[in-house]
Amino acid sequence: MNFDDYRGVWVFIEQNASKIEGVSLELLGAGRKLADKLQVPLAGFLLGHEIKPLVNQVIAYGADEVYVIDQPILKHYRTESYMQGVMLLAQKYKPEIILYGATPNGKDLASAVATDLSTGLTADTTMLDVDATNRLLEASRPAFGGNIMATILCKKHRPQMATVRPKVMKALEPDSARHGKIIEEKIDLKEEDMRTKVLKIVNDVTKKASLAEAHVIVCGGKGMGDLQNFQLIHELAETIGASVGGTRDVVEAGWLPHEQQVGQTGETVTPKIYFAIGISGAIQHVVGMKNSEFIIAINKDPNAPIFDVATYGIVGDALEIVPKLIEHFKQLKTEKGGEISYA
Ligand SMILES: Cc1cc2nc3c(=O)[nH]c(=O)nc-3n(C[C@H](O)[C@H](O)[C@H](O)COP(=O)(O)OP(=O)(O)OC[C@H]3O[C@@H](n4cnc5c(N)ncnc54)[C@H](O)[C@@H]3O)c2cc1C
Repeated sequence: MNFDDYRGVWVFIEQNASKIEGVSLELLGAGRKLADKLQVPLAGFLLGHEIKPLVNQVIAYGADEVYVIDQPILKHYRTESYMQGVMLLAQKYKPEIILYGATPNGKDLASAVATDLSTGLTADTTMLDVDATNRLLEASRPAFGGNIMATILCKKHRPQMATVRPKVMKALEPDSARHGKIIEEKIDLKEEDMRTKVLKIVNDVTKKASLAEAHVIVCGGKGMGDLQNFQLIHELAETIGASVGGTRDVVEAGWLPHEQQVGQTGETVTPKIYFAIGISGAIQHVVGMKNSEFIIAINKDPNAPIFDVATYGIVGDALEIVPKLIEHFKQLKTEKGGEISYA
């Protein structure tokens, strides 16, 4: 394998019902920095049916090139057809780096492609950089139970691939004046050759989606003491129109379902405001919330690690402070005519 044949940074543009997933736009932002360091074009690749109107958006968010395969057989995500599409593109155009969102479909596709291309894949990455001299992708992720960050390299194979968690990278501001190159391809695959059929699409309307999308989150930890005290977390959230989250210890205690766990083995969240109440700030929790805009921590231990990532810290007993906050916000709501605005 001649590594010099491989050039360019590519991002899988995941779309559902002709809407681009947020993580793909975030990856264009991250990919832009890598491509600039390597002095190569940044490309997005888009598979689906009737998706051509999305191409301009991919360019506006930072891509120099967009590879498109637009065929009815790609209307819904299926491993087999999408993998064939990516294989065709990767083998013909030989990108040196391919990034995918760590979504269910992104992870499924990336692992299938890695197997068929006999290359490496770093899963669930939270940091990306590149060693421009050796043209090596540095994909970092928590390892050994989150106690260390491991930086993983793929020195012997190409392309270098990683899946990246949603909401950890920042998308660029879209620029509709940008221009890019569009390259169209076709896969030779018939519906009758497909082993899977999509019979019905059922949308997930559980709380899980709402936590990831929430603008304000009140997250409680084991420091709340027991299930009864944890009701204060629900009451504060209800008062200010926030979603409720918890640490893994809270979920293990049965105070919340797993869908509401924030952290390495739960949801990654980036709300405007994140209340961390009675939470120590273990690395496995912090990786899931550290990109929140404002973090307000309440903990009775002034040395709790959560204060290292907090914008504002209140040292004290949550069981005394939270009822006061609830009372204050209820009063504020009455004064403001029933609504608190986060604009
Ligand atoms: C592989 C692996 C994956 C993990 N994944 C996750 C994950 O996804 N999410 C996650 O959250 N954790 C995860 N963990 C667990 C993590 O390491 C911590 O154990 C957990 O986050 C601690 O939860 P906590 O902060 O609620 O509890 P504790 O660490 O027990 O902290 C409680 C805090 O509350 C404070 N406190 C106590 N009483 C009060 C009071 N009255 N008022 C104010 N403060 C008070 C204490 O000072 C303390 O700081 C994972 C661990 C491993 C090994």
